[in-house]
Amino acid sequence: MSSGYPGRSLALRGRYRYTSTMSERTTCVVVGGGPAGLVLGLLLARGGVEVTVLEKHADFLRDFRGDTVHASTLTLLDELGLGARFAALPQRRVDRAQVQLDSGTARIADLTRLPGAHQHIALVPQWDFLDLIADAAEEEQTFTLRRNAEVVGLLTDSSRVAGVRYRDRTDGTEHALRAGLTVACDGRGSAVRSAAGMLPRSFGVPMDVWWFRLPRRADDPAGGLGRISTGQFAVLIDRGDYWQCAYLIRKGTDAQLRAAGIERFRDRFAGLLPWLTDRLDALGSFDDVKLLDVRLERLRRWDRNGLLLIGDAAHAMSPVGGVGINLAVADAVAAARLLVPALRSGGIVPRSLLRRVQRRRWWATALIQTGQRLAHRAILGGRAADPGTPPPTVTGPQDATAEAPAHTLPLPLRLARRFPVLQGVPARLIAIGPLPEHAPQWARRSPEAAR
Ligand SMILES: Cc1cc2nc3c(=O)[nH]c(=O)nc-3n(C[C@H](O)[C@H](O)[C@H](O)COP(=O)(O)OP(=O)(O)OC[C@H]3O[C@@H](n4cnc5c(N)ncnc54)[C@H](O)[C@@H]3O)c2cc1C
Repeated sequence: MSSGYPGRSLALRGRYRYTSTMSERTTCVVVGGGPAGLVLGLLLARGGVEVTVLEKHADFLRDFRGDTVHASTLTLLDELGLGARFAALPQRRVDRAQVQLDSGTARIADLTRLPGAHQHIALVPQWDFLDLIADAAEEEQTFTLRRNAEVVGLLTDSSRVAGVRYRDRTDGTEHALRAGLTVACDGRGSAVRSAAGMLPRSFGVPMDVWWFRLPRRADDPAGGLGRISTGQFAVLIDRGDYWQCAYLIRKGTDAQLRAAGIERFRDRFAGLLPWLTDRLDALGSFDDVKLLDVRLERLRRWDRNGLLLIGDAAHAMSPVGGVGINLAVADAVAAARLLVPALRSGGIVPRSLLRRVQRRRWWATALIQTGQRLAHRAILGGRAADPGTPPPTVTGPQDATAEAPAHTLPLPLRLARRFPVLQGVPARLIAIGPLPEHAPQWARRSPEAAR
């Protein structure tokens, strides 16, 4: 456990009471309890490293997070002895990806062709997944998770990052936690990255996402569904009794589209997905529709002296392909494998080792981000839900399952239908990815031992 002592309140600094915490110390502090942070915390703890994860929220119950746990992460969970626990979570399984065009539906990926033990993507509310990882980590003696702990700055020794300052959101007190290594896993808006003065390179993204729920009926299609029409794109994620809907809008047009009124949006959405028209009154007002800011960014250097950044903090992912969670997890596994030996023997990690984490994960990240940029262009053509775009005209069958005639399909989809083996290629790219990471031997457990 982290050897923290309750500090003594010294003075009021700004809005927060400052608490003397000079004695609060750990070997590795991980900022952010998302997929990257919790998986890293679990693996470091299993490697015998004293680790504290600081998460600013009280729980993981936020529905803006993605839902997908891909085949590569399912394999990792097996290796960690957590496969059975994961399988017991309420979930939907997707073994094919379909896209609904104006003329009908076409299959783009067939996951039953994947190698290995898992031929599907699991759709699990991310809070269940994170609870599972946090519970497993809390079984390890050297793991501490502090909730309601928001990192507000970095501690430095000369030019070396030597830990963090964090605010306890339950009482407003500010604390200092010193550490041999600080790992930023605090996502796209990383406070640690800003505090370190690191600016990511930003790749233009033409869209943002509206995120809302619609009731799901028993006879609706199962799994995930993409819907593309001219200048419009929506994704439906099957969460059992409701659809989690993502609707792409052109970046910067949120206020204009909202000003046009919810009725206009309901009409537009009904034009895109007519079989959902009968439940669109679930969208009473725009209060039911959240705006998610989409970014695609990457840091040139993922480290500073005493500091490493991984997951979205190092490379914010677009939702295209739903791969960000699995990439963040893969970063965490690679980082743990490379860092545990150094952290075990003293805690000061040389920069050369931190750079090896980036070298290991950089090309897979850059490859996927390039694919996402190409997909933005191909899918949206720069015209995502422009306020001026009229609702689409559906020319083909209006149910979600009718097959599109082959001559209406773009060439890649025609080829994939003609030669079904080709559907295994996107399946592998999405569900396994270019560089899946496997659990190091010291982190592996049999299912029984992991209980
Ligand atoms: C609209 C949208 C939909 C997406 N859908 C999917 C999908 O379906 N599947 C998929 O794989 N990916 C999806 N992604 C991408 C995915 O969400 C991210 O790539 C992934 O969550 C990154 O994981 P992470 O652990 O690096 O960061 P995050 O998941 O962002 O976790 C960061 C954590 O740090 C905490 N935190 C932040 N600041 C602080 C602080 N100062 N102090 C302490 N804690 C802090 C946060 O509360 C959070 O818990 C989507 C992205 C977007 C924008």
